[in-house]
Amino acid sequence: MYWRYGQRILSASRLVRNDPRLHAVYISNFKCGPDSFIEHFFRRTMDGKPYLQLEIDEHSADAGIITRCEAFLDSLANYRQGAPAPEWSFRAVTPKTRRTVYIPQMALHAHAFSAALRACGIPSEPLPESDDHTIEIGRQFASGRECLPFITTTGDMLKKLFEPGFDHSRAAFFMPTAGGPCRFGQYAQMHRMILDDLGFRDVPIVSPDSTDGYASQFGRVGPSFRRLAWRGLLSVDVLEKLAREYRPYELDPGATDRAFRESLAIIVRGLERGEGHVFDALKEVRDIFNGIRIDRRQRKPIIGVVGEIYLRSNRFTNNNVVQMIEGLGGEAWVAPITEWVFYTNNRYMERSISAGRYKDFFLGLLKEKVQERDGKRMERIFEGLLLNLHEPPIEEVIHLSRHYMHHSFGGEAILSIGKAIEYIRNGVSGIVNAMPFTCMPGMVVTAVSRSVRERHDDIPWLNMTYDGQEGVNDLTRLEAFMHQARQYRAAREECSTTSHR
Ligand code: SF4
Repeated sequence: MYWRYGQRILSASRLVRNDPRLHAVYISNFKCGPDSFIEHFFRRTMDGKPYLQLEIDEHSADAGIITRCEAFLDSLANYRQGAPAPEWSFRAVTPKTRRTVYIPQMALHAHAFSAALRACGIPSEPLPESDDHTIEIGRQFASGRECLPFITTTGDMLKKLFEPGFDHSRAAFFMPTAGGPCRFGQYAQMHRMILDDLGFRDVPIVSPDSTDGYASQFGRVGPSFRRLAWRGLLSVDVLEKLAREYRPYELDPGATDRAFRESLAIIVRGLERGEGHVFDALKEVRDIFNGIRIDRRQRKPIIGVVGEIYLRSNRFTNNNVVQMIEGLGGEAWVAPITEWVFYTNNRYMERSISAGRYKDFFLGLLKEKVQERDGKRMERIFEGLLLNLHEPPIEEVIHLSRHYMHHSFGGEAILSIGKAIEYIRNGVSGIVNAMPFTCMPGMVVTAVSRSVRERHDDIPWLNMTYDGQEGVNDLTRLEAFMHQARQYRAAREECSTTSHR
């Protein structure tokens, strides 16, 4: 939807750029999400031809707009139409040659994903975790209105390309894309534009699309890749759950983090060896965690962390919200990455049915069944070790959000709300919704969070917005929130004791 809107604007701008009789006025709303990306593409297409950009908000007054229009008309007097602008289009993005595919490290799952690619004969490495330098570089290529994950992924790619001695002729970057009411679908195009401008036209961006369930590009890697990558993502999801349920109760400080690092290396080795070795690796992981001494007699208040997938999963951009919750005496459950994979497949099946593509629908259904079977097999390995082991079917998550948004409202908002309600039903004492500043689905979740609270006994709910700055206020806000979460839990415990008398 958003993509088609962008394409229409770009077609119009091409027409204006090449016709000397026409000039453009680009009208945008203050904080418009799609325009934060489209304005870059528009400027590129106009190729130096002047245009007027007006950003309107509720305070905009006629006088200011008239003055700017007059100044724009004056500036046109000095403009001489040049040759037609060269055609600029979003190039196809597949690696044709053998190159190392670098995976942005949104989460530690990038290690598993890279290992799955290596197992299929494609050299791959995760990019190093983001840091302050990432933000510094990324911001140089942004206007400040784009979302934070775009800035960090740009910064991480460029940091790698600028590394002394780095051979970009052997490199490719991975950046998936998606449709729906969100800006994520623009990232790969914008990265392409930045790389082209910096002279890295030859560096491919591998960009599988969620609208076909990532089938077209992943299908080319090799028949076992998708299965292996899926098992890798599931494995890291469960490993993270283990760490979050063990660390708050460990008796030997640091034991969980050591077990986590060791286990991640075991999972990566298992994936590199192929499909059949992943479950053996997970049995080793189970034994490692079984050896950690913990005391769980007194369970701490559990906080469900939902929200935009990048922010909730990326410890650098969310200022390590999980560590903060644990430091304040809580335990954190975070919505898993694999939720998104189930969701994109669910949407794919839905689109296939409505378009009458029954073969595609059945392929999607088969994929879902295989994925669910892998998930169940993994759960059996860790049965009894984790309270938050089982994940509900994605249809249930979508169904839980039905009072707040229509199921056709695609994207992250529906998942955040559904997952938050599922966590509440499973007994958490508070919800943190983590999102980047100006995140479109994040703002929708913030807007409906009040009604969700009202329908769920006023459970403590904290909307945390991140913009890449060190969050001095984060700790203060979380301290107050954890206090509420403790009170909420105490009230509920008291309630259940009274009703059992
Ligand atoms: S979900 Fe939010 S942060 Fe992520 S791409 Fe969409 S608008 Fe940007």
